[in-house]
Amino acid sequence: MLRVDDLHVFYGPIHALKGVSLAVEEGEIVTLIGANGAGKTTLLRAISGLTPPRRGTIHFQGRSLLRRLPEDIVRLGVSHVPEGRRIFANLTVQENLELGAFLRNDRAELARDLQRVFDLFPRLRERLHQLAGTLSGGEQQMLAIGRALMARPRLLLLDEPSLGLAPLLVRTIFDVIREINGQGTTILLVEQNAHMALSVAHRAYVLETGRIVLEGPAEALRQSEAIRAAYLGGQ
Ligand code: ATP
Repeated sequence: MLRVDDLHVFYGPIHALKGVSLAVEEGEIVTLIGANGAGKTTLLRAISGLTPPRRGTIHFQGRSLLRRLPEDIVRLGVSHVPEGRRIFANLTVQENLELGAFLRNDRAELARDLQRVFDLFPRLRERLHQLAGTLSGGEQQMLAIGRALMARPRLLLLDEPSLGLAPLLVRTIFDVIREINGQGTTILLVEQNAHMALSVAHRAYVLETGRIVLEGPAEALRQSEAIRAAYLGGQ
């Protein structure tokens, strides 16, 4: 479904991605793990058209995503939940969710999709008319994911959804990720919480300073000594 080949991204003189190749098949949860600064966010930004690569290719369902506007990439079926949530703090929960659907004109379907988001995150229904900026960190993450789902993505890019959340909420977010995938949405998940990411994903890639150094079934990586030592705190 998604195929990235030999991708190179630069920030001025900084060579952030040095020939990254990866694939995500329809129906999968694939996770990309790696330390701070490895290039995980950069890869998601390149896929969604926010940071153009200097070299390499990105294909989604057979079409190149290069030189397309971010909103055209959303239209093709790729939604990105950025790190740090980036919800609109002075709009209500409802307004934030409606904005997620701004590219769609099938208004009749919107109510159904709102319902789906509320089924995934009942807390959002309770907070519908509250300003998003007054939500807790966990609720803001729910809203950011809900907003992305309102665009009806086929592929959801999630950047560090568990960052800064209490352990109980981390569990809730990962349960919902599994559920969204079960409903048919393919997911590429960037995480520093390797333990949770590997427990929810089918396959995983490990990124180190701009290069993929390891890939395989998530369960196999979870058992790997090298991964345990480097990313799972030796657990
Ligand atoms: P984090 O989890 O901290 O976001 P990451 O794995 O997502 O880490 P990136 O944010 O993709 O890593 O950063 C990869 C490299 O590119 C780092 O060396 C970072 O300092 C650099 N970088 C990222 N964004 C910029 C930018 N806008 N300008 C210059 N350098 C940048």
